[in-house]
Amino acid sequence: QKQQLKKIKNLFAITLDKHRVEIGANISTPQDIEGAINNGAECIGLYRTEFLFMGRQHLPSENEQFEVYKMVATKMEKKPVIIRTMDIGGDKNLPYIKLPKEENPFLGCRAIRISMMKKEILYDQIKAILRASIFGKLKIMFPMIISVEEVKILKLEIDKIKQQLYEKKCLFDESIKIGVMIETPAAAMLSHHLAKEVDFFSIGSNDLTQYTLAVDRGNDLIANLYDPMSPSVLNLIQTVIHSAHKEKKWAGICGELASDERATALLLGMGIDEFSMSASCIPKIKNIIRNSNFQQCKKIAEKALKQPTSQKLISTIQPLIKKYD
Ligand code: PEP
Ligand code: MG
Repeated sequence: QKQQLKKIKNLFAITLDKHRVEIGANISTPQDIEGAINNGAECIGLYRTEFLFMGRQHLPSENEQFEVYKMVATKMEKKPVIIRTMDIGGDKNLPYIKLPKEENPFLGCRAIRISMMKKEILYDQIKAILRASIFGKLKIMFPMIISVEEVKILKLEIDKIKQQLYEKKCLFDESIKIGVMIETPAAAMLSHHLAKEVDFFSIGSNDLTQYTLAVDRGNDLIANLYDPMSPSVLNLIQTVIHSAHKEKKWAGICGELASDERATALLLGMGIDEFSMSASCIPKIKNIIRNSNFQQCKKIAEKALKQPTSQKLISTIQPLIKKYD
């Protein structure tokens, strides 16, 4: 089977009835790109930039960030790279940013909330991404969005920074695409509005599961309750995909569910446009997609989403979950 996966890893992710989706890799550092390319990634669907901020004593400067993003853009040779602005907070802390001690860090100062509170972090990161954007095909993505207001403010901030770069005669990709992660129930419920504001969605199923089920994703005591196959989570995901398509935008998924073999055909049938995952999972997921029939996935997905429990949902999609080894 390894041999077979090796053969298909560089082929398109296209179903038997010719429905094509995009397969990307999640990366944390530029060093991860080689593995992404070697495993057949067509893009970087999630670059978790917070790793550039961790394990050091001060914020990375705009220039330092520029050099790293430029390297990522260049290494990917015009293939798309979605750069997510830093997602610090929750369980990831920085020694050099003083944040108040919080009772509920996952519901507190996290991700875009920190970037908006300490605007210099946002400005330096956006400037660095824009400057690097001429070296490849970069896109900007914001994490932990909960409202339309946030997105409107962030877009205005980007416009301001673009204006400053113009004035300095600094080149950047003027039509750089802007997207948001859909990883809170609020964002999912507002997705029909958010879809009017952005170019794309990427569903963060890890946090969307955590926040929908009110189950801490890192708490072993309740790990049995953490269930991304819950009809509650999957119906939110379906809403998000429909909202995107209604506005002619695309919706991807970059949480762990993207590489969960139980969910591949289901997500296909729900209309997902892009899967982004750990590079090593790409060949096996491509293989499932290439052996699936999109029309059949669509029919079964519709039935599955009506089920009251994960168990019933999973039995409904059983005909789609074939064994490929
Ligand atoms: C997610 O929440 O699903 C996601 C991809 O982001 P992270 O795992 O970095 O929070
Ligand atoms: Mg997340």
